[in-house]
Amino acid sequence: MIEKRIRDKYVPTIGLEVHAQLATESKIFASDSNSFGDHPNTNISTITLGHPGTMPKLNQKVVDFALKLGLACNCDINKESYFDRKNYFYPDLPKGYQLTQDRFPICVGGGVKIRLENGEDRIVELHKIHMEEDAGKSIHVEGKNYTQVDLNRAGVPLLEIVTEPDIFSSEQAVAFLTEIRKIVRYLGICDGNMEEGSLRCDANISVRLNSETTLGKKVEVKNMNSIRNVSRAIEHEIERQITLVERGEEVISETRTFDVTTGTTSGMRTKEELNDYRYFPDPDLSPVQVTDEWIAKVKSEMPALPEELFNEFVAVYQLPVYNANVLTDDQAMALYFKEVCRHTTEYRAVSNWLMGIVKSHLNDTSTDLRDFPLRADVLASLIDLIKAGKVSNSVASQQLFPYLLENTSVTVEQAAEILNVIQDSSEDAIQPMIDEVLEAFPDKVKAYRNGKKGLVGMFMGEVMKKTKGKVDPQVANKMLRESLESQ
Ligand code: MN
Repeated sequence: MIEKRIRDKYVPTIGLEVHAQLATESKIFASDSNSFGDHPNTNISTITLGHPGTMPKLNQKVVDFALKLGLACNCDINKESYFDRKNYFYPDLPKGYQLTQDRFPICVGGGVKIRLENGEDRIVELHKIHMEEDAGKSIHVEGKNYTQVDLNRAGVPLLEIVTEPDIFSSEQAVAFLTEIRKIVRYLGICDGNMEEGSLRCDANISVRLNSETTLGKKVEVKNMNSIRNVSRAIEHEIERQITLVERGEEVISETRTFDVTTGTTSGMRTKEELNDYRYFPDPDLSPVQVTDEWIAKVKSEMPALPEELFNEFVAVYQLPVYNANVLTDDQAMALYFKEVCRHTTEYRAVSNWLMGIVKSHLNDTSTDLRDFPLRADVLASLIDLIKAGKVSNSVASQQLFPYLLENTSVTVEQAAEILNVIQDSSEDAIQPMIDEVLEAFPDKVKAYRNGKKGLVGMFMGEVMKKTKGKVDPQVANKMLRESLESQ
């Protein structure tokens, strides 16, 4: 760790390249199945293998998905875009080139709004979003002197999202990736799973002195398979580069790989060894042309985005920013919240229930909200029942909630009757029980009246035991104190 005083002399500048694997049925230029985890080399047609005479045909779904993401990020859509052949040799690239929109992308500009820990928000500018195909996968078998190749992934559609060098800390990078992952999931175009490689991120990182205006030499870091590791890699790289500059040494422009176990980066290849990719438009593919109608159709099919729901939750449902953030993290959860709020106006209580009891239930049972058995209107009635003072919060969460999960055909009122948990908080119902408790502990009552006020907790426990939790604790507590103080 370098001193803060030294670190503060520098500004880190970060640009990200994110590859999102698209959740289409088939590949980008062939009808081979696009499914993860199949037996190696089973989803490979002659088109994917690039056999002579085969012709690629662009999957329209991929264009739909690109337009969706482009619209979600306020990009400009190019009505005409092209696929280039990017030529290089590698065992997992059967055609000897990758088809990519590197030079003439479908989406340019735009930005993604990020929210930071301190509550500030800002827009990270995008350079472009383009379509391309994935390569196969080399599997380096440990302890063996050969490498295996699985070409199932060759031709899987990707969207590459490239930011401007407009990110200035690891925290901002994390916020950006979190937001992008949320957006692709909401749009249903990518599962956003970084561990399985369906969302991959490379980071370009440089540092410069505060006083300088030109950017320092940039280093590209690869192989970070989680958002946390992206953050670790950026932190390490910033410190490594500052240390070099402080020593009067030079940062070399190179590609480095991140090591998960050590949390450090190491050099893979320098930019001097850069390939000449000999880009040229693929002669077998016509330009991608999108019409205004096409764009309008995609637009009409767009779901509400996380940012939109977040704003709605804060403005309309009056939720605290924290709650709105947690709920919109997951689309299913956000939509369920809205559904419950169609049946009750206790919005804040609904948000607390979803973030607390419902979420822990889903975690404990490792289930998805889609399999959650409680209907929105049932949860709403339960919350209303608490609000009406008919049951306490703890009875609702510890007794009614589990019962309703098991018995989906009963109403909340029926369940409360069956479990006999409706609380009667009328004074007539509570007073006799308080009297009984005081009679049972005459010594403690004397001690209380002589100043041992701490005993109130013990009395309260006895009262709640007697009432089996069926009275409003606040009412009972007030009445108990009054009884103890009287005489
Ligand atoms: Mn790429």
